[in-house]
Amino acid sequence: MTPAPLVTDGEGVLIHRVFPNNQISELDPFLLLDHMGPVELKPGEAKGFPDHPHRGFETVTYLLHGEFQHRDSFGHHGVLGPGDVQWMTAGLGLVHSEIPGDNLKKNGGRLEGFQLWVNLPKRDKMKAPHYQELSADRIPIAESTDGKVRVKVIAGEALSVKGTVETHIPIEYLHFRLAAGAKHVQELAKNLNAMLYVITGKVEIGGRSVSEFHLAALGNDGDAIEFSSSTGAELLLLAAQPIHEPVARYGPFVMNTKDELYQAFEDYRTGKMGAITIAH
Ligand code: MN
Repeated sequence: MTPAPLVTDGEGVLIHRVFPNNQISELDPFLLLDHMGPVELKPGEAKGFPDHPHRGFETVTYLLHGEFQHRDSFGHHGVLGPGDVQWMTAGLGLVHSEIPGDNLKKNGGRLEGFQLWVNLPKRDKMKAPHYQELSADRIPIAESTDGKVRVKVIAGEALSVKGTVETHIPIEYLHFRLAAGAKHVQELAKNLNAMLYVITGKVEIGGRSVSEFHLAALGNDGDAIEFSSSTGAELLLLAAQPIHEPVARYGPFVMNTKDELYQAFEDYRTGKMGAITIAH
């Protein structure tokens, strides 16, 4: 069980960085999990992540509270509100900015969300950038028969309800709300690398108790995991098929070799990933 320490990134965005950390560099194919906030922002206080590039993987942004806007070097522009998900396949590369929405900037308010980085297999690293936008009302929700387990299925399947995101490798991205006394058995395909991150409350799993802002890496044994909460809790369950390929990563680029990493920097430096031309 590892805690998610508070860090700042971008212009000074307050983040619980779940991993990478001193103990976990990656959980193949997951490269990073940031829990943005939770924080109550005063008017004018909201900060973001101005123009920066990505190549070789996917960034998945899931907002719980607040508002974030997105612009990229291909002219794409979108706004994420509470409950919305943006699944971005950076592929061969783009430059984008992720900054607070105008309303959040002007008036302040609560900000909380997640960003997950998912590696791409070598065969998909240089594909064209692609987005899957899921507004909150399009994310399927499943509920247990006793009503104590509620889950938003962002990707994968839970309680016989399937998510709609198309992924390059099998991935489960599930947001659970457990009422006090809830119990759940999540079936998983064999050999998935799984982890559980507690957002609020406490979760019991495999004889351990995991508290909020803590991660339990679950490995890939067996074909089901069982967890419960005596207090009530909210958690993310993430699981995916490991890629088992060499990882060369530096900052916003994740490739297989150092040479590919140098090439990514060179392509960014010489403008091959473009620049953001739409006004902020
Ligand atoms: Mn980014």
